[in-house]
Parts: sequence; structure tokens; C-alpha cells
Amino acid sequence: MSAKAQDGLALVVSGPSGSGKTTLVKHLMLRFPQSHFSISSTTRAPRGEEVDGMDYRFTGREEFLDLRDRDRLLEWAEVHGEFYGTPRDEVLPHIQDGHHVFLDIDVQGGVSVREAIAGRAFLLYVLPPAMETLSDRLRGRGTDSAEVVALRMKNALGELAVLPRYDAVVVNDDLGRAVDEAQAIIEKREHNLERWLSGGGREFMKTGFGVEI
Ligand code: ADP
Ligand code: 5GP
Repeated sequence: MSAKAQDGLALVVSGPSGSGKTTLVKHLMLRFPQSHFSISSTTRAPRGEEVDGMDYRFTGREEFLDLRDRDRLLEWAEVHGEFYGTPRDEVLPHIQDGHHVFLDIDVQGGVSVREAIAGRAFLLYVLPPAMETLSDRLRGRGTDSAEVVALRMKNALGELAVLPRYDAVVVNDDLGRAVDEAQAIIEKREHNLERWLSGGGREFMKTGFGVEI
């Protein structure tokens, strides 16, 4: 990847199902109007009002495994019994063009993205105000069966264990406040890194460690 001062960031947003990632990302994209939403491929069935090619690319299992085997995915994981993956072309060309990319992906995916593009990844974790809020919100969303809600609640514990590996945490209690806070955190990351890189840090990383940021 060629490094430019204006390269964008891969902004990974993770957290237990029902914590409000989708809602938060939709609002954050209005605050960063040049940003792109990474449309994942998944084997799960469309839910509610979801549209193929807008919310997800809904694929069969064979098609998904073919994408994976042809190395078309930046990362992939099995989540709640289904396959989900981030196509490389949903992220790399956009950050190279200087645009941020929002990724609503699980914690396994977040860690893999950091391994793949370390200097350009920023991992934000969304927490609900209380764990009971999760099941209330999942039920309130009205798109999942009781079994699916139970599985997602059970998996929330495993997802919470990865929290310390994330760069920043936002508690999604009041939505407006959470969006403001996430925006401020991202802007701080943008400015601090770019200031350091353009002040000689980029050359230092390249010559000292052979790493291009
Ligand atoms: P996730 O993408 O993490 O599974 P969603 O964004 O779908 O979660 O949110 C789950 C439900 O909670 C949705 O019905 C959403 O409208 C609602 N919700 C999200 N954020 C808040 C909030 N801050 N306060 C109250 N309800 C919220
Ligand atoms: P949902 O079925 O609620 O849309 O998503 C279930 C979980 O899969 C969420 O935690 C969501 O962030 C995650 N997810 C969605 N797309 C991807 C992806 O491309 N890769 C990974 N690793 N997780 C994803």
C-alpha cells in the first residue's frame, strides 16, 4: 500500500449484538460525510428491511467459501453460527483514496483487521449501559426469534473478553451523547497520528522498522 499523508482509517466498530453498533455507525457516517461503509458478505439470511448490496452481500455458503479461498476477504469469521467476511475491495481502495471506512464487524474480525493493516486500523468498542439493556434492545428491535436472541446474549460474554484489545470504548446510553463522543475520539486519532507522521514519523517508521504507514 503506498503511504500518503491523507490516507484514511479503517474504523472498526464492534460490541455485543444489540449494543447499538449499526445505529451508531449510521449516525457517525453523517459526521464523516466522505466515509464509506464496508459492506460485508454473509451467509445469514436478510432480516427486517435489509437490502442485498446495501446492508450486506447475502451469499450462499459455497459462494462465501469461494471468496475466502480466492483471498478476496480482508478477514472473515464465524459469528452466531454464520459466516461473515470483509471484502478487501470494500476497504483498501477507499483508505488509499483518503476516505475513512467504517466496519461493523465482530471482535475476531477487528483483531484480524489490525493484524492486516496495523497502522491504518482503529478499533472502537461499543458497550450497552447495562447487560440487561442488550436483551431489551434485541427484543425491542423485533427482528430475531427468541432462540436467536438467547444465542446472541450467550455470545456477548465471549465478545466482552476481547474488549481490552480495542483502542477505545464508548458506552451507548444516550445515543446523541455516544455519537458525539465517538466522533471526538476518531478526530483525536486522526489528528495525532497525521501530525506525527507528517512531522517525520512516516520516514522514521519506514527506515527504522521497514513499516509503511
Ligand atoms: P447492533 O448493531 O449492535 O446489533 P442495533 O444498532 O441494531 O445494534 O441496535 C439494537 C436496537 O437498539 C435497535 O432497535 C436500536 O434502534 C436500539 N438502540 C440503539 N442505540 C440505542 C440507544 N442509545 N438508546 C436506545 N435504543 C437504542
Ligand atoms: P448481524 O447478524 O447482527 O448483522 O451481525 C452479527 C455479528 O457479525 C455482529 O457482531 C457484526 O458486527 C458481525 N459482522 C458483520 N459483518 C462482519 C464481517 O464482515 N466480519 C466479521 N468478522 N464480523 C462481521
